Amino acid sequence: MRIIDHWIGGKLTAESSSRASAVYNPATGRPQAEVRLASTDDVGVAVATARGAFAEWSQSSLSKRTKVLFAFRELVNQHLDEFAALITDEHGKVLSDARGEVQRGLEVVEFACGVPTLLKGDFSDQVSTGVDLYSFRAPLGVVAGITPFNFPAMVPMWMYPIAIACGNAFVLKPSERDPSASLLAAELWQQAGLPDGVFNVVHGDKEAVDALLDHPDVAAVSFVGSTPIARYIHTRGTANGKRVQALGGAKNHAVVLPDADLDYASDHLVAAAFGSAGERCMAISATVAIGGAADALAEAVSAKARAVKVGSGRDKESEMGPVVTAAARDRIVGLIGSGEQQGARLLVDGRALVVPGFEDGFFVGPTVIDQVTPEMEVYREEIFGPVLSVLRADNVDEAISLINSNPYGNGTAIFTSSGEAARRFQRGVNVGMIGINVPIPVPMAYYSFGGWKDSLFGDKHVHGPEGVSFYTRAKVVTSRWPHVEQSIGASLQFPTAS
Ligand code: NAD
Repeated sequence: MRIIDHWIGGKLTAESSSRASAVYNPATGRPQAEVRLASTDDVGVAVATARGAFAEWSQSSLSKRTKVLFAFRELVNQHLDEFAALITDEHGKVLSDARGEVQRGLEVVEFACGVPTLLKGDFSDQVSTGVDLYSFRAPLGVVAGITPFNFPAMVPMWMYPIAIACGNAFVLKPSERDPSASLLAAELWQQAGLPDGVFNVVHGDKEAVDALLDHPDVAAVSFVGSTPIARYIHTRGTANGKRVQALGGAKNHAVVLPDADLDYASDHLVAAAFGSAGERCMAISATVAIGGAADALAEAVSAKARAVKVGSGRDKESEMGPVVTAAARDRIVGLIGSGEQQGARLLVDGRALVVPGFEDGFFVGPTVIDQVTPEMEVYREEIFGPVLSVLRADNVDEAISLINSNPYGNGTAIFTSSGEAARRFQRGVNVGMIGINVPIPVPMAYYSFGGWKDSLFGDKHVHGPEGVSFYTRAKVVTSRWPHVEQSIGASLQFPTAS
């Protein structure tokens, strides 16, 4: 069995890890590798290595950093297919979708290539006679990223390009379910000329995460994953004095008004609900049909859901692959059953799907459940699978209040031809990312990404300007260069401008 090692100080290493965990190919349902699970001591080695590298990297010029970032950008672009294959084989998503996630990650690298502009400070001349005032931002030190299985390349890329561009050293703890994309990124950083030790990868589970949260030399933690773990990371990390941004789970609603183009809306709903088998934090998992739109919408979405081609992610014909593990499949199947038991109508049932040649794969077919109400488990839980619930509301205000009653606030969308309804919606919902006739409103890298409420703990969103702010802290300098002959009297009074 292939062993997946840590990457510390510019090389693969087993360190002292004695535990390991199986990495499956979700399409075949069979284990294909074993990933090491770091001990607290292993994490200590990675952090000490990063701390050593930080001393030099934080002093490197902006020109040098920019050159490394541009080289990394080129290398990731050249290795796009290799990234996509690693992602498909460990996550299960189809190759075209895996390429798409790398491309979206690459946009953050491109944003970070502008680091000289991003780190420009402010300068105020002559704030008092002979006195200037200016500010600039300094890196934090060693920063850690803890990431989920569902975007094994893109989510880490939300973090490390900006952290590294800003002069920090990075320790990444990727998901133990699909760890290989992070190691390819590590090799490419080295080829790009990044000094060894600035980017490290430790694989692991709770033990590794806790070691990062407790280590005194980790200055900040970026986390993306489920809400219970995000809450825990934020609580423990901030109790230890660290800066923490912890993005959690989601339940994203798409509201469809009767004035929307039904064909357009149902096409986009199906893509947003079943792309990546619904394992996207921005997937649409609940659609709220307003008034007369409901029956026709449920029918259109069901017809299109039945037509989705499900198969191995390696098969170019497939539009949707398996879910990540057998446990995920069983949980999703159980939740679909609970919807049926609690009185919802199963319009399309993906539970019994078998893909020929991949009988042991972790497949669940697209599923549409109608007549869902807010008390049902299928609505309350983040299913994180290919399941679309259809709810009904009388008007936009009722839909807004439904969305605002939900504990999550990651993304949401409205389909309408009314500007007035769209504006009312964007102003009314307590959600971080909003789409108007756009079902998956993931902002470009030069804006920041993040949700509200239980979808984000901490006050900074990831990448974009808030990412730069998260990975740096400000220094403000007040300076005076008196002439030798100039006499400037000192006073015990609190200084004021003159
Ligand atoms: P997860 O919370 O199970 O795992 C995320 C990370 O936390 C992994 O690295 C994992 O090893 C670690 N972890 C797991 N259990 C832990 C524990 N008890 N203590 C410490 N660390 C632990 O999430 P997942 O299943 O990998 O990913 C899916 C979840 O991520 C979904 O809820 C999805 O909505 C969310 N997600 C959110 C966003 C966002 O932007 N808000 C983006 C992607 C995924």
